[in-house]
Amino acid sequence: MEAARGSTILEIKDVTKVFGAVSALKDMQLSVRRGRVHTILGENGAGKSTLMKILAGVYQPTSGSIVLDGAPYAPASPQDAARAGLTIVFQELSLCNNLTVAENILATREPARAGFINDKALVRKATELVKELGLPVSVSEKVGDLSIAQRQLVEIAKGLSIKAKVVILDEPTSSLSDSEAEILFEIIARLKAQGVAVIYISHRMEEIMRLSDDITVVRDGSYITTREKTETTIDELIALMVGRDMNEIYPPRETAPPAMAGSPVLTVKDLSRDGEFENVSFDVRPGEILGFFGLIGSGRSEVMNTLFGIRQPTAGSMSIDGNRVSIASPADAIDRSIAFVTENRKEEGLVLSHSVESNISMVTLGQYSGALGFLKRRRERQAAVGEVARLAIKTASLDTSAGSLSGGNQQKIVLAKWLLTKPKILILDEPTRGVDVGAKFEIYKIIRQLAAEGAAILLVSSELSEVIGMSDRTVVMSEGRMTAIATKEQMTPEKIMSFATGFLS
Ligand code: ADP
Ligand code: MG
Repeated sequence: MEAARGSTILEIKDVTKVFGAVSALKDMQLSVRRGRVHTILGENGAGKSTLMKILAGVYQPTSGSIVLDGAPYAPASPQDAARAGLTIVFQELSLCNNLTVAENILATREPARAGFINDKALVRKATELVKELGLPVSVSEKVGDLSIAQRQLVEIAKGLSIKAKVVILDEPTSSLSDSEAEILFEIIARLKAQGVAVIYISHRMEEIMRLSDDITVVRDGSYITTREKTETTIDELIALMVGRDMNEIYPPRETAPPAMAGSPVLTVKDLSRDGEFENVSFDVRPGEILGFFGLIGSGRSEVMNTLFGIRQPTAGSMSIDGNRVSIASPADAIDRSIAFVTENRKEEGLVLSHSVESNISMVTLGQYSGALGFLKRRRERQAAVGEVARLAIKTASLDTSAGSLSGGNQQKIVLAKWLLTKPKILILDEPTRGVDVGAKFEIYKIIRQLAAEGAAILLVSSELSEVIGMSDRTVVMSEGRMTAIATKEQMTPEKIMSFATGFLS
């Protein structure tokens, strides 16, 4: 007999999960109903994935209880969870690249018999499923040959190939295009119509408001509240998620900005690089936050790369503390107390497989040239501990791999690494890209604090509100040219946008 739609299928009570020193979940609660999409909303590191992995049998809770379809539920493995009718599509893809789409889709479903399934039956079953779901792939293709988005859809099909009562999708659309996301939304609607409960995790507010029936907000591993979609708003959800009002996102200056009469630490005159940017001139004082706003392709990152010695200017000059300098390489820049937090944290800033500690001490290792190796090691560790605490980096230990941390915490590690060099000039290129709202707030506080300690900060951002909220003055660029240095008074969104687009009013 079919249980009534809307009745409770899954109930989580007081679930706690401890990893070493980190409590990923504290007395978590969740009640999920049949035929509804239930979104779990929380910042990076809030504990969403941990909770889902407990439901999927990947982790066991430290304490607490779960009831699935009226029976106590404590899966020891994903296969166990699948047998009980719960399936999860992981945030990290778990497909085998050298197997075909069909083989991947049916691999978890019949693990014990995988070797015995005859190919024809396998292909037929997989084809049916792929067709039913409307996926844009052929079942005989090797997964390794598919695009990331196609792989993601195959991953979803794999998850759905068992007849599930509960389907968990952990950030499924993060690598999907709009049209691929539409396919997924149709799949979700179909599941819902069949009475399946869908637990959905996403950061995209529009998507959440469109898909969800119920929304549970979690923060710092704790349950905050559950709302029906129809009785809440995006603003309310964000405020609940970060635990403060939206208008408190940009921390106020606690010290006055430096007087314009003071001497600049960095002066740039008519800096040009053929084909990239021309005649860029500005100066910045200790303690000042100088914003750089422009649309994609306006030349901001190219200017920063040049200041840091990654490439050489074709004309113009730079002076530090009044002395003309030429910066031949990043090592040269570091020697002159310039630090650069790049926009590509994963490619340039961080070695994901290395520990938190080795990432933080990457640039400064030269400082620890003590005669005794163990002394050096101890100092390195102390410095790393100091930064982890100062930046409130959420990590189980210094030996945890950087890749296992949330985006916001990874970004803080990159910051920590550069802060150890005690920079006079700190270049931040899109420091909050891909970082959620709460971690953003913490990064803004750190930026403010560094400025208060006397660093001159160049803050490159594509987010207008960020530039306006944080900067003392703002350089605006458009197509490789500087179109303005906006003063505080000129920093209205309309003015800055008009300088950035070249449509001066
Ligand atoms: P979310 O999915 O909401 O971003 P997670 O559940 O991934 O959050 O992480 C919650 C917290 O638990 C974070 O502080 C994270 O660093 C920590 N954490 C998650 N998995 C592990 C693990 N295997 N070992 C140690 N700490 C972990
Ligand atoms: Mg997660």
